[in-house]
Amino acid sequence: MRLRFRDAELEQQFRHSYRASARLWVRVSLVVALSTTLGFAVIDHVLLVGPRLARPDIWRFGLQLPLVLIMLVLTTPRWYQRWYQPAIQVAAPLFGAGTVLMAIEATATQLPLVAARLLLAAFYFYFMLGMTFGAALRTNLILISVYAGAAVIGAIAPTVAIYSLFVLISANLIGGAGCYALEHANRVAFLERRRLAQVAMHDGLTGLLNRAALEQQARALWQHAQLTRLPVSVLLIDIDHFKAYNDHYGHQAGDECLRQVAHTLRAVGQRRPLDMVARYGGEEFIAILVGGDRAHAGGVAASLVQAVSGLNIAHAASTTRPLVTVSVGVTTVDPGGDYTHEHAVRCADLALYGTKARGRDGWSFHEPAGTATTAELELLKNAS
Ligand code: GH3
Ligand code: MG
Ligand code: MG
Repeated sequence: MRLRFRDAELEQQFRHSYRASARLWVRVSLVVALSTTLGFAVIDHVLLVGPRLARPDIWRFGLQLPLVLIMLVLTTPRWYQRWYQPAIQVAAPLFGAGTVLMAIEATATQLPLVAARLLLAAFYFYFMLGMTFGAALRTNLILISVYAGAAVIGAIAPTVAIYSLFVLISANLIGGAGCYALEHANRVAFLERRRLAQVAMHDGLTGLLNRAALEQQARALWQHAQLTRLPVSVLLIDIDHFKAYNDHYGHQAGDECLRQVAHTLRAVGQRRPLDMVARYGGEEFIAILVGGDRAHAGGVAASLVQAVSGLNIAHAASTTRPLVTVSVGVTTVDPGGDYTHEHAVRCADLALYGTKARGRDGWSFHEPAGTATTAELELLKNAS
């Protein structure tokens, strides 16, 4: 209701994305302001004052036009994100004050015509400048105060002043309500977009990152590791005899087992900020560790194996142990080499086959520069 997210970071993200999406719209709006300012200059001179320069021209050409031009400069990409919002909150009230000053200059018969422009300004502030509801409301309250002030000091005839103030306040109620509803809808849409992105990136069953998200994020992770010359380890984790588990306990129990294993893998494998654990597909998971050497990766693999068997999930159909266990394949790529993510995953896969061949419930390492052993190649061939 307050049009502000309680989480400060979320609020920051919303404002950033809202500003970014409003930039072109704001530029078009400023061109509209430029055209109407010039259009009023022409119509005023043709219909009201004739060809000579009049005092309103000072406000028009000396204040309003420069403000619009400055704001047009501040909406170029270079300045926009940093300067547009603070600047428009000064420029818009000043522009409005210019319109009030012109109203003061008008004669009694011209005044209602000129005052009509205040309405345009009010709606313009609410809908065209990409301001938040709060900022637009503040700007309009300043406009109303300046106009009311001019009436109080007698610069505007009381009847006209009362009438136009009433119209102005009514316009603010309508414009303000519309602006509030618009920002509310924008905020809801922002949250929904975030949620959608969240859902698209995560696996529904385990809550871990899914494979597509992993591969996308892995690219950045590998680049970072190569630039900072950090080693990267890839661990592939596969639940042992999981088909037999499903057959014996049912698919639902299988799902629950996947959830528990995933939870443990995340708790153990994702301890440092850059570590990443994802569901690779089916009963296979992947962990990417940046910055640890072979010994670190081996230590994490051993902890994963131990933590999963430590869950003590009974698996009566397993020929390895009467518990749910995992096999892990590990590879560590040293900094400086031009290995790719795909190559590392292939190596971890070879290591995983090694672990399976050696009796499961354990881990093994495959050297990234090494070639597959005949036994591993045989296993790979059988698997495909
Ligand atoms: P191994 O020890 O050699 O890894 O044998 P395995 O039975 O674990 O491997 P296999 O690839 O033969 O079987 C994997 C099973 O995982 C088959 C599939 O039904 C099951 N599975 C994959 N995804 C899910 C899931 O989302 N939920 C459940 N319950 N089972 C799944
Ligand atoms: Mg498998
Ligand atoms: Mg398996």
